[in-house]
Amino acid sequence: MRDDAAVQVEATELLRTLIRNACVNDGTPGSGQEYRNADALEDYLAGVGLGFERYVSGPERVSLITRIEGRDPSAPTLLLMGHTDVVPANPRAWQRDPFGAEVVDGIVWGRGATDMLHLTATMAVAVRRLAARDFRPRGTLIYLAVADEEAFGTYGAGYLTAHHSDAIRADYVITESGGVPVPTRSGPVFPVTIGEKGVNWRRIIVGGTAGHGSMPFRTDNALVTAAEVIRRIAAYQPRPTILDVWRRYLEAIDLPAETVAALSDADRVLDAAGRMDHVGFARTAHACTHTTFSPNMIRGGVKVNMVPDHVAIEVDIRALPGVMPSDVDHMLSEALGDLRDHVLIEAPCAEPGSMSSFDTPLAESLGRVTAALVPGSRIAPRLMVGATDARYFRWNGVPAYGFGLHSPRIPHTDYTVMFHGNDERIDVESLRLSSLMWEALCRDFLG
Ligand SMILES: [Zn+2]
Repeated sequence: MRDDAAVQVEATELLRTLIRNACVNDGTPGSGQEYRNADALEDYLAGVGLGFERYVSGPERVSLITRIEGRDPSAPTLLLMGHTDVVPANPRAWQRDPFGAEVVDGIVWGRGATDMLHLTATMAVAVRRLAARDFRPRGTLIYLAVADEEAFGTYGAGYLTAHHSDAIRADYVITESGGVPVPTRSGPVFPVTIGEKGVNWRRIIVGGTAGHGSMPFRTDNALVTAAEVIRRIAAYQPRPTILDVWRRYLEAIDLPAETVAALSDADRVLDAAGRMDHVGFARTAHACTHTTFSPNMIRGGVKVNMVPDHVAIEVDIRALPGVMPSDVDHMLSEALGDLRDHVLIEAPCAEPGSMSSFDTPLAESLGRVTAALVPGSRIAPRLMVGATDARYFRWNGVPAYGFGLHSPRIPHTDYTVMFHGNDERIDVESLRLSSLMWEALCRDFLG
């Protein structure tokens, strides 16, 4: 028990350091400055015989690797990956300083507390404890503290995949998103993220003919055409696809049989989500069964007395795994109908989704260690609608999961609000649980 308390204190203090370092990534190449957290982690992990590799992808953009070499080359390599950057925060909208890392009543407040510095910290705690206890596993353990997850991984996982693939070669990967308990009648269920939707951004350029705003009759107004383009996109619903992961998740979380039946039937899911009281779950049900189209930005017009001749509409499209970027373009054409030939479409981002099998030795191991730490619990596979660095590995056929082990103190419904939102926070019991889980997992899985 004393040892458990020490783990909690250690993880809490390391997380606070990482939050205070404020490696804020606003998407510009000079932001992030992840060297601060790489330095902090190297300092923390020093003194127990670990070696370090630093990968510099740009000025002040540093990723850190340490590894515990396995003794059996045929045994699997496990990569634990935590990102060190965070998204910006607006201090005026927070109850506490987003970079103060205050601890109040067992809760650590700060940007990154749940995305995902808590896991980056607890993974490091486990690695340090294993190294200090002279852990000599069969398989190799790699810990990667990676930069730039919050801006697509260009200076982080993407850079390493392209330029240092040997350094991150692994048979299995675990990173963020998952492990927040969903209460059910038969005990808590801890979701494991096994797949993600593909990010597809499309820019629709609508043209028109400039004219005087005082004579709108029979003009070719790009903004008016754009309004119809947006209306059609918003109304468009592609045919649902019921993925195996969605069905398995529904069955695991103990919903009424009729609800499970409706939400896992391509002919009924849209109607069932439409009638659901809980709007958050309705959105999830829709997003997990459809490629979604959300028109989110518009730029057009230069002056109030001029008929505009140019409007750009930015659409955020999230494709189900198995739906290729070319399929997305086909769907968009279908949505636009006869307006398709009147617009230009650019693709600032075109990525397929990614999916791993849940039927792996790693999933079995996760199930074992989770049930040992939280008796009566079980794990279940889940599709994530956002994107993480896991996709770089899944695209190459390496099973990559999102997990952590959270206490029930902060309800699972709060997590979606905290991600990139205000008042991000984590309870210290979750830090203890995750630290112990990573350590137990390495012992169980790497042997
Ligand atoms: Zn994240």
